[in-house]
Amino acid sequence: MTGVTEQMPRVLLLLPTTTYRSGAFLEAAKGLGVEVVVASERPNVFQEAQPGRYLSLDFFNPDKAERQAIDFAATRPIDAIVGIDDATTVLAAALSGALSLPHNSVASTAASRDKHQMRDLLSRDGVPVPSYVLRSVDDDPVLEARRMVYPCVVKPLMLSASRGVIRADDEGQFVGAVRRLEAILRTPDAAALGDIARQVLIEAFVPGREVALEGLLVRGELHVLALFDKPDPLDGPFFEETIYVTPSRLSAPVQAEIASCTARAARALGLRDGPVHAELRVNRRGPSVIEVAARSIGGLCSRTLRFGTGLSLEELILRHALGMGIPSLERERRAAGVMMIPIPRAGVLKEVRGQAEARSVPGIEEIAITAHAGEDLVPLPEGARYLGFIFARAESPERVEAALREAHRRLEFIVMPPREAKGAD
Ligand code: ADP
Repeated sequence: MTGVTEQMPRVLLLLPTTTYRSGAFLEAAKGLGVEVVVASERPNVFQEAQPGRYLSLDFFNPDKAERQAIDFAATRPIDAIVGIDDATTVLAAALSGALSLPHNSVASTAASRDKHQMRDLLSRDGVPVPSYVLRSVDDDPVLEARRMVYPCVVKPLMLSASRGVIRADDEGQFVGAVRRLEAILRTPDAAALGDIARQVLIEAFVPGREVALEGLLVRGELHVLALFDKPDPLDGPFFEETIYVTPSRLSAPVQAEIASCTARAARALGLRDGPVHAELRVNRRGPSVIEVAARSIGGLCSRTLRFGTGLSLEELILRHALGMGIPSLERERRAAGVMMIPIPRAGVLKEVRGQAEARSVPGIEEIAITAHAGEDLVPLPEGARYLGFIFARAESPERVEAALREAHRRLEFIVMPPREAKGAD
């Protein structure tokens, strides 16, 4: 860390245009007295008025982005670089390297972005993962289907939010799942990922309960910030996230196993510093790692977390990145949870009714509808967005879960079929 004695520390935030997190990071930075430079793919409308505060970077061309960052830092030194989501973690590592800032290796962040590389590294180090096989979109799914063991899961290597992840229980479902995923991989945003969008991973389906571990790596040591239970069964064929509740209701020894499994996974990938978000499944045989991402929890879900005297997750991430002291990594005692509101059906969102009624459920803190009226709603496996988020806090995880379910029950989603919506314009 440099330059924090006299001047405000300065952090470069890599913000993809699609993130919900900007506000939380900007607020955390303000509270900490940290100057933020916002880097995004496209020139920002405010860039001309405040050139020192915005930087447009070519996110898809790391060499060019490195030169742009070095030029910028020549006049405005940067003390830390923080990538917000999956799309920016690798670039954050590359740029940190170019500016000689402490960082995860580019290889470790790249491996955590590529589900096949991740599987190779984890299984090589003996971290429990489902058995897996890589296939190409050129392979014939009808022939492959005969060799598969069922149930299995078909998934893309580099998409997120469960997009394109499909369970198959027999040969017919396998062929259907592969064809459906291949169509997703041909859409422009997926195809833009390059060769990796021409590959598909097939994994054994891991039965059991799913948890999400939110952690912070500090010089290679994993600190568990929160372990979330996902009380809704995630058995497929699509895997829509809904409720996350912390603290976990799993027994202390199982929680400890989950933490040590995640720590081993992070080590196997080579990740050493910064936030990690891991998904694991637990059954009689213990935990299996589904994935470990070198980023914090997505969407608006970080609003469930408060540490020490009320620190936000974003504040913790910025403090860690800047080498500032972290007063506490201890989550508050109260139980907390979020429901990512699932898309009820394909169509065009007209209205979400019952929000006041839902908000009045005891324990409910906030309802944030992030989809807007007129938006095309695309359910999984093609879509990757939620309708919004419901947040709750209460004395116990059971109460949090019940409050989230009741609030959701009170919401009414008016979704018009695409054709009817057009006619009504
Ligand atoms: P993404 O990065 O898009 O979220 P994941 O690989 O994490 O993709 O898969 C999304 C979800 O699909 C997981 O959270 C889990 O519920 C389910 N899933 C993925 N792989 C498996 C598997 N091998 N066995 C059982 N469920 C799985």
